[in-house]
Amino acid sequence: MKRKKFILPEEQMPTAWYNLLADMPNHPRPYLNPKTRQPITEADLQVILADELARQELTTECYVEIPEEVQEIYRIWRPAPLVRAVGLEKALDTPAKIFFKNEGVSPVGSHKPNSAVPQAYYNHKQGVRRLTTETGAGQWGSALSFAGHHFGLDVEVFMVRVSYDQKPYRRLMMNTWGAACHPSPTNLTPSGRAARMADPHTPGSLGLAISEAVERALEDPEGTRYCLGSVMNHVLLHQTITGEEAILQMQMADAEPDVVIGCIGGGSNFGGIAFPFLRQNFCEGKKMRIVAVEPESCPKLTRGVFQYDIGDFSGYTPLIPMYTLGHEFQPSAIHAGGLRYHGAGAIISQLLQDGAIEAQAVPQTETMRAGVLFAQTEGIIPAPESTHAIAVAIREALRAKIEGREKTILFNLSGHGTIDLYAYEQYLGGHLQDFVPTDEEIARTVQMLDKII
Ligand SMILES: *Cc1c(COP(=O)(O)O)cnc(C)c1O
Repeated sequence: MKRKKFILPEEQMPTAWYNLLADMPNHPRPYLNPKTRQPITEADLQVILADELARQELTTECYVEIPEEVQEIYRIWRPAPLVRAVGLEKALDTPAKIFFKNEGVSPVGSHKPNSAVPQAYYNHKQGVRRLTTETGAGQWGSALSFAGHHFGLDVEVFMVRVSYDQKPYRRLMMNTWGAACHPSPTNLTPSGRAARMADPHTPGSLGLAISEAVERALEDPEGTRYCLGSVMNHVLLHQTITGEEAILQMQMADAEPDVVIGCIGGGSNFGGIAFPFLRQNFCEGKKMRIVAVEPESCPKLTRGVFQYDIGDFSGYTPLIPMYTLGHEFQPSAIHAGGLRYHGAGAIISQLLQDGAIEAQAVPQTETMRAGVLFAQTEGIIPAPESTHAIAVAIREALRAKIEGREKTILFNLSGHGTIDLYAYEQYLGGHLQDFVPTDEEIARTVQMLDKII
C-alpha cells in the first residue's frame, strides 16, 4: 500500500523562517526610493510598514525566529499535510511519484495567512491599531482579516469594485472576521474621490485600491499601517514555513524531489516552497530543478524585461529590480485573479536571471483541464491559480512516462478553489479561451517604464 499523507507532528513544526539572501550567490540590486532614486532605507519603509517588517525586508540574516504568538495561530492549521497524489499518478499511468503540499487547509483556503499572521502580530506589538490593504480576488483581504482579528486590530480592505460585486463570498469572509471591506474606489480617500469624479461607474483597479489603502494608512502615522500580500522579501520570508515543512515531510516519505513547482503571482507561494530547497542546491550541491509557472496571458518571467519597476502601480512602494511586463500591463480576461500581477519579487527575478530557477508559461485551458483531473482523482478542487502548478506537474509526469524513468515531483497546492467556482463554470461550459498577448502589447507597457539601468 502506498502511503498517502505525511503529517508532521505539531511539535516538529519549524520555528524559524529561512532567508535565501543569506545563501544565494548574487544578491538582487537594491530597492530604490522612487523619489530620490537612492537605495531604500529601513526608515523609508517604516513610513508604510511596521518597523519589524521594514527590518525583515532588508535583513540578510539566515533565519528569523517565528514568534511564539505566531506559532500558536499557525497551529490552527499547520503543519500542513504533504500528500502523495496517488490517484493522479494512476490516472496518468506514470512512473513518476507526485507529491503536493496542501496549503489549502488554512481557514482562508490558501497560503496567504502564513504572512498575514506575522504581519498582524508585528503591527500589534508596535501599538498599531488599524491595518489597511487592497485585495483583487479577495484572498489576501480575507487572510489579513482573519489574522488582524486575532490581535484585536481593525482591518480595512479596499476591494476592487468589480470583484466586490462579483465575489460576495470573499467579502462575507472578511466581514465574518470583523473587517470592513469597501468597494474601491471609495469616497474615503483623495485617489478614490478623484476616480469617482472622473467616472462614477468605474469598475476600479488594483492600482487604485492600493493607492486608497496607502493613502488611508498615511493619514494616521501613529495608529495605522499598510500591509502587502506578496512580492516583498518579508512576505516571501514568512512563506518559507511551507518549504521547511516540506523538506521534513519528504524525508518522512523517504523521497527527494527532482523538481519543485509553484505557480507565480508576485511570488510568495512559489518562494515559500522553493527557497528552502534552493538552499540545498546552493549549500549542499543538490541539483533539483525549481520551476515557476505563470499564465501565458501574463508572462512576466518568460516574456518580460528585467529592470526596475514600481511594485504597486501607484508609486508608493520602492522601485524593485524585477522581471516585469510594466506596471500598466493589463492582462486580458484571466480566471486566476491571483496571477495577474505585472512583476515578480526581486529575489525570484534575480534567481531567474542567474539560471537558478526555470519559468514556464501555460495556457489557461490546459490549467483548468489539469484542475478538473486533479479534482476527479485527488478530490480537492484546486484554486485556479494552483492549477498552473498542477499543469506543469502533469507535463513532468507525462515526460517521465515517455522517457520511461522514475522521477519525484513536488508542487505547492497554494489553495483550494471552492469559493472560486466561477472559473470552473466557465471551463465546464466551454467558454474559456486561451489568450496570448502580442509582442507589441508587451512592448507598449514596457516602453512606458523609466529606463533606470
Ligand atoms: C494569491 C494567490 C496566489 C498568487 O500569489 P503569490 O504571491 O504568487 O503566491 C496563488 N495561489 C493562491 C491560491 C493565491 O491565493
